Amino acid sequence: MTAFTRACRKGKRLFTHPSLRDFGYRLTNWRKESFMCPVCGYSGPFKDASTPDTNMRDALCPKCSSMERHRLQYLVMKTLRDEMDFSDMAILHFAPERFFQEPFGQWFRRYTTADLNRTDVNYRVDLRFLPYSDRSFDCVYASHVLEHIREDDRALSEISRILTPSGFAVLPVPIVSITTIEYPQAHEYGHFRAPGPDYFRKYEKYFPKIKLFSSNDFPGQYQLFIYEDRTVWPTKDRPLAHPMAGEKHVDIVPVCYGGQLNETLQEQSVARL
Ligand SMILES: [Zn+2]
Repeated sequence: MTAFTRACRKGKRLFTHPSLRDFGYRLTNWRKESFMCPVCGYSGPFKDASTPDTNMRDALCPKCSSMERHRLQYLVMKTLRDEMDFSDMAILHFAPERFFQEPFGQWFRRYTTADLNRTDVNYRVDLRFLPYSDRSFDCVYASHVLEHIREDDRALSEISRILTPSGFAVLPVPIVSITTIEYPQAHEYGHFRAPGPDYFRKYEKYFPKIKLFSSNDFPGQYQLFIYEDRTVWPTKDRPLAHPMAGEKHVDIVPVCYGGQLNETLQEQSVARL
């Protein structure tokens, strides 16, 4: 092996090392637009997220691998933390995202993880049948979970049951349709439906107040929109999806507040999204 080859291999190893991967990506993609990741503090170009079925432009943070939805959710949680004292709250984090575990563990007094199948959590539980007492958590966080559950009403009922009256639940689903399409069986990565913004109206049966945050609510530097050509739908991986116009799509994070169910207030009009 020549000295040159050895130097090249060493350089390649250096740039694929986790701590320098984002530095290498920044260097080799300096022409791309720069963004900021609120989750890890990275600043620079984001990666496209490609599958055989789709390409989502500027989706992925090269340092922490957060996607658009994670960055929006993180900003929503930071906003809520400015409004409420998390330090005396207990959170149930369902299907816990790796990069949220540390901050949530620090912010909340009691941090509990759960999942239906994973073994790296505190409880293996089904959201439809939760083994917790009424009003036992101040926060329930379950992102992109409800679309995997056919009996989502049952899960929403359980979440509202275990939530304290002063607590809140963060329950986003992927917004991939103009209006919600229920599938006869699981399609598209185990999804029982293609939710539209109207899906959150269902939450009104279980929570007295719902606040919707969207990609439009935070600065563009965080890149919170989903840039994806959905005019080609349906595709092989999305056989029941309906085509959507435009390349720029909004993401939504619903925050559902606990308490007496009298008259539901949905603070942000779906039409504005
Ligand atoms: Zn990041």
